[in-house]
Amino acid sequence: MPELPEVESVRRGVDEWTAGTTITGAEVLDPRILGTTSQRRIDASAVSGFVSAVTGAHILKAERRGKFMWLSLVEGADLSTADPVTSPVSRPELGILVHLGMSGQLRIHSPGEDIHRHTRAVLHLDSDRELRFVDQRIFGHIGVQPLVHGYGRLVPASAVHIAADPLEPAFDPEAVVGELAKKRTAIKAALLDQTLVSGIGNIYADEALFRAGVHPLAVPARTRKSRLVAVLESATKVMSDALAVGGTSFDALYVNVNGESGYFERSLTVYKKHGTPCKRCGTTIAREKIGGRSSHFCPRCQRRR
Ligand SMILES: [Zn+2]
Repeated sequence: MPELPEVESVRRGVDEWTAGTTITGAEVLDPRILGTTSQRRIDASAVSGFVSAVTGAHILKAERRGKFMWLSLVEGADLSTADPVTSPVSRPELGILVHLGMSGQLRIHSPGEDIHRHTRAVLHLDSDRELRFVDQRIFGHIGVQPLVHGYGRLVPASAVHIAADPLEPAFDPEAVVGELAKKRTAIKAALLDQTLVSGIGNIYADEALFRAGVHPLAVPARTRKSRLVAVLESATKVMSDALAVGGTSFDALYVNVNGESGYFERSLTVYKKHGTPCKRCGTTIAREKIGGRSSHFCPRCQRRR
């Protein structure tokens, strides 16, 4: 599952190719992509509704919060003459939300290029390019949503409950540490709670706890604040490090997406390293189920207190 660094790598590529373009048309090749994992039966009116909502819209930019990514849209505006700060037409009201799910990819193509057989939706752009959503297993989603205010900025309605992520300006580390310090669950579970801090998934939670030397079962309410600060700082750092290498695989007409490994895999210290020696102390890395998810940690570097 792509986490923040993987989604951000994709967002950067998508933004580079789509910001400032106008959508001249859209095709939904498989209506299931407009649904969600709990509802994949989509009627024809949803397809025509999607196509008419996006056709003629202007893409301001590709945005992201946590693992959510969207294209913010302005409808039918001539932005060539509009003042981006003061003009009301430049304020986006709709967004195209894109969930990559497990296997989703966004790719940029020229119009005549072969359509990959798992292509589910296509946006035609006035830049003579196409943004194609390819998703082999259909765990992903694309859809139009109103933008609403959530944690200091406009976000798609379904992301309104998602807290700011550590790489965005709206992130307030002191406030998050304050909230984290009230939690009586395992710190591993708290880090995965997207309403507290977004973007951290299983991989980076395990890596952050290792870097901070904190056991995944530590209870935040009984942990020193300086250690909670260290965990959040480690999460920010490890995701930044991953992003730095994830961004390198973007090339010409291909928007990179494979969230499963990327180049960061060789830098992982504990995630899925159970049974191998800790890089720091040589103790065998352990694995334990916490809150239904596998946690990987060094029993010596991350002692329970
Ligand atoms: Zn160790």
